[in-house]
Amino acid sequence: MDWGIEESRKALVAWETLCKPKAAGGLNLLNVEAWNKASICKLMWNFNKKKDRLWVQWVHVYYKKQIAGWSIEAKQASWIIQKILKARQYFEEARYNEADMEKMESFSVKKFYTKLRGSFEQVTWRKLMQSNLGAPKWKFIVYLAVQRKLMTKDRLRGLRYVEEVTCELCNKEEESIDHLFFSCSYTSQVWTVLLQWQGIYKKAIQWNEELNWTIKYCKRRSIKAELYRLILAGAVYHVWQERNNRIFRGVKQSIQELVRDIVQAVHGRGRCVQRLHTRLDEMNYYPT
Ligand SMILES: [Zn+2]
Repeated sequence: MDWGIEESRKALVAWETLCKPKAAGGLNLLNVEAWNKASICKLMWNFNKKKDRLWVQWVHVYYKKQIAGWSIEAKQASWIIQKILKARQYFEEARYNEADMEKMESFSVKKFYTKLRGSFEQVTWRKLMQSNLGAPKWKFIVYLAVQRKLMTKDRLRGLRYVEEVTCELCNKEEESIDHLFFSCSYTSQVWTVLLQWQGIYKKAIQWNEELNWTIKYCKRRSIKAELYRLILAGAVYHVWQERNNRIFRGVKQSIQELVRDIVQAVHGRGRCVQRLHTRLDEMNYYPT
């Protein structure tokens, strides 16, 4: 089945968001524009502070005293020199003035880049993503789910890709983030079994409430909380895979089969970490 998603080239998450730090809900990708500004600022700092460098001396001699100050615009200078001189506006963007630049004994592009980007508000679900031992692909699906960016059928209908929006897992209700995680009669059973497996006796609840519960639970620094983050990531990923396998490959798994897959995958990831071994030994069985 082709829903034409690739052809649409629609970005799931805005590039600007992806460049934010992880604690602010981004993936800490490099903001090339800000990095470029910081690199040019380093050249300007060199002009003013590194007068022993040969190329700086050459520029100073060649342009005489034209470029000695902060607010000079050497109109006769080459394009590149003018560009570097304009970097004072980037210093100002990062809230530095000429005196601040003079005081700088060294210049770190990375530090300047961080200052230039400013501060970000932290997202409440950062603890779920940070130090999550799940596979990168698990965390990526969780990352999309917490931002409600997974292409569930209700969203696809909004974009006019599909008309039929019935959930593939229960064949009853409309497929949405809230339904899949974990209101659906299929996934709620999967998640409830996995919660019991960890010794958590509560029913699966709707996604937002589940996240709020997770945020509180993950405040503890315990092996149980660490495992919980891992199991949640595994569950979200495998539920999404199951849904995709049913739609695109026509392959179905029962609740028990999916739970077994998740349990095996969690053991596979968790076994790499020594401190989890004792707890994983206690959980070395398939819950029903
Ligand atoms: Zn369903």
